[in-house]
Amino acid sequence: MRIGIIGAGHAGVSAARKAAELGAEVTLFSAEDVLPYFRPRVVALAFGLTDEESICMHPGEWYEEHGIDLRLSSPVSSIDTTAFTVSTQYSENEEAFDALILAGGAHPVVLPWAQGLGSAVRPMWSFEGAKELKGELQQADSVVVVGGGLTGVEASLYAAEQGKSTTLIEKFGHMMPLFLGEEAAAVLHRQLTRRNIVLETGQMVNEVQPGRGRFRVLTDKGGELESRVIISSVGGKPDLSPYTETALDLEYGIKVGETLATSVPGIFACGDAAQQNGCTVANVPTATLQGRVAGQNAVAYVQKSSLDRTPLPAVQMSLKYRGFQLHVAGTKPEEGYEEVLLPAEQDDVHRGVVLNRSGDLIGVQMVGSGEAFQKLTKQLGAPWTHVEL
Ligand SMILES: Cc1cc2nc3c(=O)[nH]c(=O)nc-3n(C[C@H](O)[C@H](O)[C@H](O)COP(=O)(O)OP(=O)(O)OC[C@H]3O[C@@H](n4cnc5c(N)ncnc54)[C@H](O)[C@@H]3O)c2cc1C
Repeated sequence: MRIGIIGAGHAGVSAARKAAELGAEVTLFSAEDVLPYFRPRVVALAFGLTDEESICMHPGEWYEEHGIDLRLSSPVSSIDTTAFTVSTQYSENEEAFDALILAGGAHPVVLPWAQGLGSAVRPMWSFEGAKELKGELQQADSVVVVGGGLTGVEASLYAAEQGKSTTLIEKFGHMMPLFLGEEAAAVLHRQLTRRNIVLETGQMVNEVQPGRGRFRVLTDKGGELESRVIISSVGGKPDLSPYTETALDLEYGIKVGETLATSVPGIFACGDAAQQNGCTVANVPTATLQGRVAGQNAVAYVQKSSLDRTPLPAVQMSLKYRGFQLHVAGTKPEEGYEEVLLPAEQDDVHRGVVLNRSGDLIGVQMVGSGEAFQKLTKQLGAPWTHVEL
């Protein structure tokens, strides 16, 4: 039984491990030329807080020991959804498989103002990119971070701690509106401000003008800043180009059902590349869990047995760095739900739980504290599941 996996990130490696454990002969295609790595750790790599080796998921021998044929520098250029063959950019040969798993993740969104300005203006995204950014950051006294998601917050924390003048620009009126209610966001705002990060919310970057060793950043609200480095962290989008000529149902990502099966039987998609129930999700717990299920289901498809459904991991995000803490699980407070604040041991801490109309626990948000976070997430009601990664 031969299973081909496209993309060796969190989803692809997890799928490969599971499929190999179940006896499949696994080929894992990676577009990158480095061993698969923990993508969130590229932020620390760019700021010199970790080294290249420590961010790899496994040493090279691990893949061989687990019966996984890892092909680095092998970007898949197209697949044939009838013959189940895969072609890579640098090889004339097509390889045939019994089932395929598409785990190519996403590519960073690069806004027009960020194009063509060299390595000091770039997305925080990949191993290679982080290494280039590291050289720029070592010389920088100032950093503008665009995008206030988890990556933007983390980059800002590191930059400010290293004594760089740091500004974080976020287009929404409050921080992380998809995850936090207004009150939690206000606490996050104060926590970041206290760490010498200037927060400009409700503004978008319109233009970046190159100058002598510095860039001028202009926002739609008339804001004007100068900075040596500009980090863009405005999200990603799956690259669907290898699949556009196929029978796969594509929209924003590769459309899948509850079992991660695509519209073509025997082909599964997982992680950032997959679009399930109309949405794509970008976090490590989801990618890892979906990878596991895709690996298992690809084997089950070949063996003609029944397919499993994917669980929804409870933890949405979690960041802890030198006294700074931000943890989110389940659903955020919104209309129809009640938010209950839990006692906090110090000022400027938000510990909230969200209850639905029946009083069931459906969300947990914590800023400035992680007290009882794990314990509470284990009690989250459906559809969330607490799964050890
Ligand atoms: C800077 C940054 C920080 C983050 N921080 C966090 C965090 O703190 N917590 C959290 O939960 N999530 C975080 N995320 C999100 C998380 O990293 C992603 O959700 C997760 O990596 C998705 O896993 P994946 O396997 O689907 O995709 P990826 O990890 O992106 O892996 C996909 C791989 O497939 C390769 N590929 C793509 N196309 C092809 C092709 N045609 N052929 C061969 N290979 C291909 C890509 O090069 C890549 O190596 C962060 C993301 C970024 C960019």
